[in-house]
Order: sequence, then structure tokens, then C-alpha cells
Amino acid sequence: MANRKYIVGNWKMNGLNDQLSDIADIASIAANHPSVDAAICPPVTLIASAVSQNAAFSIGAQDCHFNEKGAHTGCVSAAMIKQAGASFSILGHSERRADQHETDADVKAKAEAVHANGLGAIICVGETEEERDAGQAVDVVCGQLQGSFPNGADAKWLTIAYEPVWAIGTGRVPEAADVEEMHAAIRQKLGELMGDGADAVRILYGGSMNGGNAAELLAVPNVDGGLVGGASLTAEKFGPIIEAAA
Ligand code: PEP
Repeated sequence: MANRKYIVGNWKMNGLNDQLSDIADIASIAANHPSVDAAICPPVTLIASAVSQNAAFSIGAQDCHFNEKGAHTGCVSAAMIKQAGASFSILGHSERRADQHETDADVKAKAEAVHANGLGAIICVGETEEERDAGQAVDVVCGQLQGSFPNGADAKWLTIAYEPVWAIGTGRVPEAADVEEMHAAIRQKLGELMGDGADAVRILYGGSMNGGNAAELLAVPNVDGGLVGGASLTAEKFGPIIEAAA
């Protein structure tokens, strides 16, 4: 049976209080499409307000630390994002892997920390353009998945996002056949890592998804939804993606 489609907006470092109205607009579109699971991950500063203003809509975080507390200036723990109202967190986004030098082991520890706090996790994996050109894309992505894979993984709380680094924010999207090949490889790897439960783990595609290409990408086998950056910032752009998933 096909998994329910999951459409998640990653606002990255965008959003001040006056953009809370965009989340409210997105939440109303989502409410009109109950066959789709939709969510927004605003910056951590907006989580509590977004949750209090949109009780029925799912709000996530973009990251958290793997430790419970301590001397980690500027970081937030899983318990903190939970207390703010997040129900899950994106983890291991390629921007964090590059800018904050996050390793697979860090991502695994973060996923275990969010699970220990009763939250969901979206673990991001994806190859660079050089790795794809060298024919290493599947090996790189499956290696990241294996290294980042948390103990106790279960489809109830774990989602994987395949995000080719070269497609993020560039307007470039892989061929459908390449997306299909990668999602099938991820599905197979999940089977090796967790056995029977693997089919129920949702695998999202991310990288320049928009209202114009969402339907085609979401129709690819093993694509269970999308992780969307730029096109998630307004209801005008994100709404058509939710509609394409319905
Ligand atoms: C992302 O950063 O997760 C992403 C998919 O960005 P964009 O949609 O802007 O390519």
C-alpha cells in the first residue's frame, strides 16, 4: 500500500513575526487536503507562535543538538524544541553538514535524541554534483544513510529525505529516472537496516521542488513526499505542492 504523502517546508533562516500569517495561510490549505500530511519548519524563534496560532497543523524544527543540555552556546536540545511545540525535526540537512561540519555520527545521535524525546526525525541525505558525475551518487547516499541511521528506527517517527546537494536552491532537478533509481536504492538500504518496517518509512524528495514540477516528482515510485525550501515560504507557492500531493 502506498504511504501517505508528506510535504514539508523548510524555511531555513527566513521568517520574522510578520510571516506567521503565511504559516496560517499554509495551514488552511493543508486543512483542506486531509489526505496529505503537511508541515512547516520555521526558524526556531517562530516555533512556539506558529504552534499556538495553528493548533491542528504540524510544526517542526530544522535541527537540534544531540546532548540534553550543557555548554553548547547557541544550540537547542530536543527537549527545548519539543517544549516550543515542534513535533519533529529535520536533521543532517546538507547545509548543516557543509556549514557546521555535521557528520553522519552526529546526525545519528541527533535522531536518537529526538526519538528519546518523543519527536519525529527527517534525516537528509544527498550527493554533491562531483559525486554524481563520478558515478558515486548511490554509494554516497546509501553510506550516509547507514552512518546516520538511528537505533530503534521505526516508520512511526523516522522519515528520510533524499536531497541532491546540486539541486537545492538551484532550480535544477534530477531526471525522474535518477530520482527513481535513488529512492529504490534508499528503500533497499532501509530494508537491510531495519527489515520488514522499511516499506512504511517515507522517503521524501528535496531540491527545487515547486508547483510546476511537484506532480511529476511525486508520481515517481518510492517518492512519498517532498522537502521544500524556497517554494515553501508562501501559501501561493506551497499550496500547489500540497494540492499536487492530494
Ligand atoms: C532544501 O533546502 O531542503 C530544499 C529542498 O531547498 P529548495 O527547495 O529551495 O531547493
